[in-house]
Amino acid sequence: MIKFDIITILPETFGSYFSESLIARALKKKIIKIKVHNLRKWAKDKHKTVDDRPFGGGLGMVMKVEPIYRAVKSLKGKSKAKRRIIMFTPRGKKFDQRLAYKLSKFDQLILICGRYEGVDERVAEHIADMELSIGDYVLMGGEIPAMVLIETVSRLIPGVISKEELLKERITKDKGFIEHVQYTRPEVFEPEKGVKWKVPKVLLSGNHKEIEKWRKKYLRVIEK
Ligand code: SAM
Repeated sequence: MIKFDIITILPETFGSYFSESLIARALKKKIIKIKVHNLRKWAKDKHKTVDDRPFGGGLGMVMKVEPIYRAVKSLKGKSKAKRRIIMFTPRGKKFDQRLAYKLSKFDQLILICGRYEGVDERVAEHIADMELSIGDYVLMGGEIPAMVLIETVSRLIPGVISKEELLKERITKDKGFIEHVQYTRPEVFEPEKGVKWKVPKVLLSGNHKEIEKWRKKYLRVIEK
């Protein structure tokens, strides 16, 4: 079973997300485990401070290293689990399907969600195993990146999606990703009078060899 430990100052943002759809089912079936931890729990002062002004000046606040250090230490515990400690940052390595596949082989993923203007650099230097970005844009926090990672990795865990053959169909030999175009009923859709959006004939032919050939033509293989 894979366990995701999320460290965040906004634990409530995850509520409905984990209680819906396949993630909720996987949690119920105990195929995956997700724990959301409020970073403030590891702040020692009476105001539960987790941020401070940046040394050298600058706009905005920075997340402090001490509460994050204590949080990660406590979540690691004494276990020798195969784990990765991941910090989300827009400058990090780009998260992709292949990395998701690698991460799906771990027992524990500790996810550090940044907020404010970022995180004290010592977290990247001494605590995190990797810095991940979900794309070249700046969000307000690491919570959505954590959801993206959890959903993508969970999907690869046996038993999470009911038709596992789907994974074999969509993942290339070196764990890239394949996407082919798809249609469903109706065969002809008329959005307005005289306009017809048709499904390609070959898909209705029942000729599997021809269908395969056609699909390969429109295949999108995401590999680097
Ligand atoms: N000045 C900061 C920087 O350039 O790293 C921006 C911080 S951003 C407002 C606050 C937090 O959101 C970051 O610490 C990170 O955890 C998260 N974040 C924002 N964009 C992200 C992205 N594209 N991928 C992953 N995390 C992101």
